[in-house]
Amino acid sequence: MTHQVPLLINGEFITSQSTQLIDVTNPANQEVIAQVPCATDAEVNLAIETAKEAFEIWKEKSVGDRARLMLNYQALLKTHQEEIATILSQESGKTFADAMGDVWRGIEVVEHAANVASLSMGETLENVARKIDCYSFTQPLGVCVGITPFNFPAMIPLWMFPMAIACGNTFILKPSEHNPLTPIRLAELFMEAGAPKGVLQVLNGGKEVVQQLLVHPDLPAISFVGSCDVGEYIYRTGSDHMKRVQAFAGAKNHMVIMPDAAQKQVVNNIAGASVGAAGQRCMAISVAVFVGESKKLIPEIKTALSQVRPGAWDDPEAGYGPQITPQAKARVLKFIEQGKEEGANCVLDGSDVVVEGLENGNFVGPTMFTDVTTDMSIYKEEIFGPVLVTIEVDTLEEAIALINENPYGNGTSIFTSSGAAARKYQHEIKVGNVGVNVPVPVPLPMFSFTGWRKSFYGDQHAYGKQAIKFYTETKTITARWFEDDIDTGVNTTITMK
Ligand code: NAD
Repeated sequence: MTHQVPLLINGEFITSQSTQLIDVTNPANQEVIAQVPCATDAEVNLAIETAKEAFEIWKEKSVGDRARLMLNYQALLKTHQEEIATILSQESGKTFADAMGDVWRGIEVVEHAANVASLSMGETLENVARKIDCYSFTQPLGVCVGITPFNFPAMIPLWMFPMAIACGNTFILKPSEHNPLTPIRLAELFMEAGAPKGVLQVLNGGKEVVQQLLVHPDLPAISFVGSCDVGEYIYRTGSDHMKRVQAFAGAKNHMVIMPDAAQKQVVNNIAGASVGAAGQRCMAISVAVFVGESKKLIPEIKTALSQVRPGAWDDPEAGYGPQITPQAKARVLKFIEQGKEEGANCVLDGSDVVVEGLENGNFVGPTMFTDVTTDMSIYKEEIFGPVLVTIEVDTLEEAIALINENPYGNGTSIFTSSGAAARKYQHEIKVGNVGVNVPVPVPLPMFSFTGWRKSFYGDQHAYGKQAIKFYTETKTITARWFEDDIDTGVNTTITMK
């Protein structure tokens, strides 16, 4: 019998009573490796009620206790990094090295969460008026919710619950139904690290579970990462239900190549950043914009891409793995066909690539288009596959205008040896995460991950100081202590004297 992924409710890993089960498959060969239940209404309600009870106790724990939980957790994650990466590779298809990176980037957020004491300190000011002092605290919100996508099964859950819980909240995680095994292992280790029961709950399932969480009156904050359509829906519905929402969404990331860029670096970095993780990264480079003479690098980039080959997660020679589902593969192939029909030049076509021994896998080979224009669907839409489209312009100004016209604003990079060009680009570009000679500029957790425009709905972003703001309320206290019992009279004005 296939193993059923449990739910985590009130400290227990339980088998769901649901009859609605979804197969979790290995995308390299379609083998069913587990089944994930869609939590029932009663299970969702039980998770919410027990998380509310746990919050009343957890919020009173000292900041040191909360930080020490994160320190224990960080140590356990490091010890189990390879084991988690193996689970992650099997259910997502990522190469083992890339899966190790997925876990590592999550561990870094846990390390950051252990700094909660200094991160969440308020402000103080003496004598805001005569003998009156003012100071502020941050206090947790309650039961917060995280809804995560398939493409970073370790990193993205770890963007969310450690920061929220370190701030004194309790948390309900709803992982992607495509790869729930990694998140549930993360949850087991969190319990092993000493998390009290009810502080973290994991509800598996699909959109029905999300819907229940989204409209429930007792859940004040929702963090979402996923596609644009769903992100917009989550943001609108959550906001309509008076919740604080942050929704990280889809992307179309451009790399600008200036004629003075270091050539070998450009070739290597474009190849890696466009097809790494099968293009299934929200920060993948999907458009290369060649300024002036830099277009002479196009043949070399094509050659570099043609030498990257997809394969099994444990094949050390494989550059990347499969698309997550046969439907995701079909969607990528549809875009490749559309690109050809719309008149782009497909100089490298990975549509027919087959990996020996894994003939049923959802593999797509590296694909590259030249002569692409901004009205083509392969330029306008997020493909989420190993497909690079290239555009040629004459000047940096044109490149900036083109990218600022594109509705997405998640990530971008410029490759140049000119400080002035890089300075102009970083200042004028309307994208939230910018790399200068760095192809995939995902910020480390002492900063925040700051997607803009159609790639983000909300205000406060993930991790860094912004996560503390997202997961807490600020309380400001204005205090006066009487030294004697002088009669100051009745004051009916707003001034403080
Ligand atoms: P998805 O939107 O299909 O699913 C994300 C989550 O939402 C899952 O947990 C899923 O169960 C749930 N969901 C799906 N449809 C829903 C609906 N109709 N109502 C309520 N909930 C629903 O996304 P995905 O395919 O898992 O992930 C890929 C997408 O995520 C890409 O668009 C990628 O760019 C984006 N992404 C963005 C970032 C970022 O930081 N901006 C990071 C990673 C991934």
